[in-house]
Amino acid sequence: MVMHELAIAQSIVEAVEAKASECKAAHVKTVRLKIGEASGVVTDSLTFCFEMLASLDPTLAGSKMLIDTLPHRAYCRYCDREFSVTNFIAQCPDCKEWSNEIVSGTELQILEMEFET
Ligand SMILES: [Zn+2]
Repeated sequence: MVMHELAIAQSIVEAVEAKASECKAAHVKTVRLKIGEASGVVTDSLTFCFEMLASLDPTLAGSKMLIDTLPHRAYCRYCDREFSVTNFIAQCPDCKEWSNEIVSGTELQILEMEFET
């Protein structure tokens, strides 16, 4: 059990519960997340923790977590191109300059959820 993912799963469950209650939804079917590969989140652990917490909650019981994974990418202003960041080092493969302009890969966000009323 990874505490980091458990804490994140807890926050997600709370956010989804709040939204479901606001929408007067009886049951949550799916929760879709966007997670960057450099966010530090282990998606398998997060799914496991989410399902465990969801099973204890009547509104969320049996709901599925869907995860869109985003690659870690940066932008080189000298070459005007995007490239893949490897091992957290954002160095342009062409000009070897280091970039501090991250395009994607650090996200952790709820994209959407599907309710049953
Ligand atoms: Zn470059």
